[in-house]
Amino acid sequence: MARLDRPPRRLRLGLRCLAVAASIGTLGAIGAASFAAAAARAAPQPPQEQQAPGYTDTPLLPDGKWCVHDSRRPQPRVVTPGSASTPAQPGRAPSDAIVLFDGKDLAKWTSGGGEARWKVGDGYVEVNGTGDIETRESFGDCQLHVEWCAPLPASGDSQGRGNSGIYFMQRYEVQVLDCFQNATYPDGQAAALYGQKPPLVNACRAPGEWQSYDIVFEAPRFDGAKLVKPARVTVLHNGVVVHHGQELLGATAHRELARYEAHADRLPIRLQDHGNPVRYRNLWLRPLGEYDRP
Ligand code: MG
Repeated sequence: MARLDRPPRRLRLGLRCLAVAASIGTLGAIGAASFAAAAARAAPQPPQEQQAPGYTDTPLLPDGKWCVHDSRRPQPRVVTPGSASTPAQPGRAPSDAIVLFDGKDLAKWTSGGGEARWKVGDGYVEVNGTGDIETRESFGDCQLHVEWCAPLPASGDSQGRGNSGIYFMQRYEVQVLDCFQNATYPDGQAAALYGQKPPLVNACRAPGEWQSYDIVFEAPRFDGAKLVKPARVTVLHNGVVVHHGQELLGATAHRELARYEAHADRLPIRLQDHGNPVRYRNLWLRPLGEYDRP
């Protein structure tokens, strides 16, 4: 026979997560003492098929906001994935991406305060000695997809062969370089965090072949002039992980130790004109948001 001096088992379990929620203020004025009574008066649960899937009677996660399998947690936003590129054809960007270059024009880019003047060809843009270009829009934390192609035939050696680069926030470079059978200093080769970290492996394709970078960049955080969290980068080169959550030492420097100087939360992405006719195509970016913000 069931004990009458205790609430049903289901209700007792329900107190676990809800009681903690009350203690952190999410139930406002309902005090701990009156909570059991309030729970007992709670409106009947809607039929099972109308409830959001999940639970409210499970342990609170360490973030203090949500329970394990919490049915009240916001559903992640739906994104239609893109498609992969082939050597002949660039892929399609995810549905929520900002397309920075779609093979047609440089409308999203600027150079020296004016129009970006790199040569736009059939589905690609080519470095042509008119200087670095950078996005008109500014970005912080983001996922960036880039495809690039080193000149064929290859010419020059070391840093002089197919050199370009992707600078996050105008200052943190992921190196672009033709490193297919081209020796250079390790922290300056393709996909290196220039002057700081070589890639874990050299995943370069031959010059004339399209290559991809998929980069997750976390911007540094500053409190006034003080660095409170360094930038962090994950890079896949042609689908191969070459950096995994690697912290940056500071802004990219040549023959000097990198260091941080405080800057804005969002800044443009810059592509380097190093005097070599490197090509780019299919550039897109997704600003990274926070969890539970659909
Ligand atoms: Mg470079």
